[in-house]
Amino acid sequence: MHFAVAAPVAVLRSVPEVRGHVREVRAQGGHVTLVPTMGALHDGHLALVRSSAARGEHVIVSVFVNPAQFAPHEDLDRYPRQEAADILAARDAGALAVFAPTAGEVYPDGFATTISVDGPSRGFEGELRPTHFAGVATIVAKLLLMVQPDRLVLGQKDAQQVAVVRRMMRDLNLDDIDLLVHPIVREDDGLAMSSRNRYLSPDERDAARALPASLRAAQRAINAGETDALLIAAAARRVLDTAVGVRPDYAAVVDPDTFSPLAVLDGPAVLCVAARVGPTRLLDNAVLIPI
Ligand code: AMP
Repeated sequence: MHFAVAAPVAVLRSVPEVRGHVREVRAQGGHVTLVPTMGALHDGHLALVRSSAARGEHVIVSVFVNPAQFAPHEDLDRYPRQEAADILAARDAGALAVFAPTAGEVYPDGFATTISVDGPSRGFEGELRPTHFAGVATIVAKLLLMVQPDRLVLGQKDAQQVAVVRRMMRDLNLDDIDLLVHPIVREDDGLAMSSRNRYLSPDERDAARALPASLRAAQRAINAGETDALLIAAAARRVLDTAVGVRPDYAAVVDPDTFSPLAVLDGPAVLCVAARVGPTRLLDNAVLIPI
């Protein structure tokens, strides 16, 4: 019988440590890939790690619950934290380092800089969570400058976040770093994996299936020949509106880069949905394929 032994994983806490680590990897000809996370790692996060490791990249997973992207009334305090388990899970998925800085390391006393991205931050999550994307853009820019990876891997799960980060990387000339977007990883019944799924009661977990069902309804409308983006979004919205225990926030067809709503499905498009199930907000989306 053969047991695979995972390579040891370096746990890095400070900026000098992560920079020293990356310097050594580069000196040996390695390519560094950063997978930023807020921890509570699940198979969605780990798929990003596995696919990068399988390409032979030196994967660094960052684990940092970023206070700047939570509003005061949001779930920062109860956001799941399980660092020891995360380090092992990252290692088993093929990561060679975990960068887990303290809040003080990331935001030293007197910290006074915020990166605020207009354009794709405006609607949807940006409208409902007005400070969220500035928090995201600031931490992602800082992580890119702290780690200086060759590649950044994000999940399509957070499609608007991808659009905001892509814009920020172009605008700040961070675009020598390759941005790779991994498809959404789903549970067997279609629910997108999320650290927040663990907040759901069994009834809420059933109700949450309405989100992926709404995306399928929209794709059926497209398959039947619909090209009006408002009617495609309405097909998704109907499923959310009629699901018991689901309070929809939005269903919209948008341009993947600008996140502006589209009128007609005639090119690249993403259908984004968001809803509250009990107290938990869930997001989902689908890259739309015109027929
Ligand atoms: P988070 O810890 O929620 O900030 O997520 C860290 C990264 O993992 C982000 O780029 C997410 O988009 C990505 N991610 C989280 N869940 C999934 C999923 N189900 N499928 C693909 N990517 C995901």
